[in-house]
Parts: sequence; C-alpha cells; structure tokens
Amino acid sequence: MTALPVTLADIEQAAARIEGRVLHTPLVMSATLSERCGVPVDLKLEHQQTTGSFKLRGATNAVLSLSPEERGRGVVAASTGNHGRALAFAAKAEGSIATICMSRLVPDNKVSEIRRLGADVRIVGRSQDEAQVEVDRLVAEDGLVMVPPFDNAAVVAGQGTLGLEIVAAMPDVATVLVPLSGGGLAAGVAAAVKGRFPQARVIGLTMERGAAMKASLDAGRPVQVEEVASLADSLGGGIGLDNAVTFRMCRALLDDVILLSEAEIAAGMRHAYTHEREVVEGAGAVGIAALLSGRLGRLDGPVAVILSGRNVDMGLHRRVINGEGEPFGEDAA
Ligand SMILES: *Cc1c(COP(=O)(O)O)cnc(C)c1O
Repeated sequence: MTALPVTLADIEQAAARIEGRVLHTPLVMSATLSERCGVPVDLKLEHQQTTGSFKLRGATNAVLSLSPEERGRGVVAASTGNHGRALAFAAKAEGSIATICMSRLVPDNKVSEIRRLGADVRIVGRSQDEAQVEVDRLVAEDGLVMVPPFDNAAVVAGQGTLGLEIVAAMPDVATVLVPLSGGGLAAGVAAAVKGRFPQARVIGLTMERGAAMKASLDAGRPVQVEEVASLADSLGGGIGLDNAVTFRMCRALLDDVILLSEAEIAAGMRHAYTHEREVVEGAGAVGIAALLSGRLGRLDGPVAVILSGRNVDMGLHRRVINGEGEPFGEDAA
C-alpha cells in the first residue's frame, strides 16, 4: 500500500499543536446502549466541543500550520455551517479573519452564528460545490488562503486527534462509529485508531439522502450526487471530483459504510436526548441511529460512538423529540 496523505505521526503532531486550544471531550459509558447491544458502548461527547462540533480540531490545526504572512491575508472556506463556525473561531483566536461561503440550503441559525463569531459570510448557490466556486475566486483574486472543510491534510490530521483521545481512553476498543460526509473526520479518526490498533474496525455512518462518499467508494472514484435536504444537514455536500486526500484514505481505512434513513436519524436524536440527556444534531446522532437500527450486525467488543455536533435549530430539535413527523418526508425516494 502506498503511503496515505495523513499518518499517525501527523496526527500526533497536530495534537501537540492544538493542545490547550480545543477541549479533550468526555468519553462516557451509555448504560442503555450497552445493555441493548450486549457490549460496552461509550459515547465520545464531541458535540460539547467549543463551537459545537469536532470541526474546531481541524480548523485550528490548519490555521496554526499557516505562516504568519498567510494568516495575515485571511482564510476562506465553503461550509455547511460547522466548519464555518470552527474556522471563524480558529481564525479569530489566532488574529486572522475568515470569509465563509455557503449554499442557500444552510439553516439560518448556522449563518447567524458564524456572523457572530466575526466571520464575513457569503451566501452563494444551491450546493457546496457552487459555494466552492466563490471560494476559488477569492483565493485567485484577493489572495485569501483556502482552508477546506475536509479535503486537506492539516484538517484531516486535526480531526484525527479525536481518534487519539478514543484509543487512549479505550485500549480495548473493537469498533469505532464515525459520522461520514466529506470524510475528513472518518479519515483522521481511522488513521489514528488503526495506527494504534490495526485490528479495530472503523465504520462510517451517513444518511441515505445524497451520500456522496458512499457513492464514490462504490464507483471506485469520486462521483457527484444530488444534494437534498436531510435531518443530518451537516452531512450534505459532495466530496469534490478532484478529491485528493479523504477519498483515498476512506477507501483504504474504512471497514464499512452504512446508510441511515431520516426516521432512523430522528430515532438517534430522540435516544440521545431521552436516554443520554444530550442535545445532538442529526449528523451527530447517526452512530446511535446505527446501533438502534440493528444494521451493524454482530458486535464483538467495546464500541466507541462519536457524537460529532450539536448545532441544530432548537425548534427543529423539539419537533423531532416530540415525534411530530419527519421534517424532510418519511424516507420519500
Ligand atoms: C462536518 C460534520 C460531519 C462530517 O464530517 P466530514 O469530515 O465531512 O466527513 C459530521 N458531523 C458533524 C456534526 C459535522 O459538522
């Protein structure tokens, strides 16, 4: 196997670089899920991370990896929200400024949060790929430095620090459940976990609606899928037809990718709230959703489940908790 773009050593360096700037989030046992699954199930409460998602790890590592001159020019990204928040926060913390481009599908609560964090927000197009065109223009014409949401070695190494925290706390972990969209989180976590424990399984979870990485892995090359609204809005967007980092890593390192319906994702959010007392967004609930769905098959050892974010509109969250219909249609094809 040729060397992958991000190694365990890169992730260890990222952990040293971002130390003190991001939280080491708690890893807690879930009594109800452990009982239900017949193996110990631990939840990595990464939705409690500063800015509400793991994205702060990658964004902070990427900003700190720039030269002072590059930081002075400012950073730019296309984002469905959480990367934008994280980059806005990370840039500000290091005395830089972030410009965030996002599609019209991004919920209002995420847009205003990013503005509040001091970023310059630009709303463009109907998809992340269209927002990316504006990013490319700002890089070419205004000299801003792009920090992509996932397809970047420094970002992947930063996300991988979450995997280091899991293996340090769970030396017997058999399966790690990772939310999957562009694959930055899954690639980094898988490189960290398998770098330490090659026998551990890492499984990517995503929604049935518009699963770009799954379609790409099946096709053997990056492919485009139609972007549609989902309860797991943070999992939307393509992986980029010119994907350079995460596609290769996910293909090499993920043991499986499992797709969840809107109803299953809603059930995951409800479980997180009712049984674990945690407010988790749709994308953050796919690991619990997979466990509840029974789609994982037989589990033969301790499971770590990453709860990746909590940035959900609270009105939407309340409707999901109350079971007031699935917001984006009951798994309409
Ligand atoms: C970005 C995000 C994901 C998916 O991460 P990728 O690196 O794009 O695969 C999952 N959950 C949340 C909450 C996110 O913000």
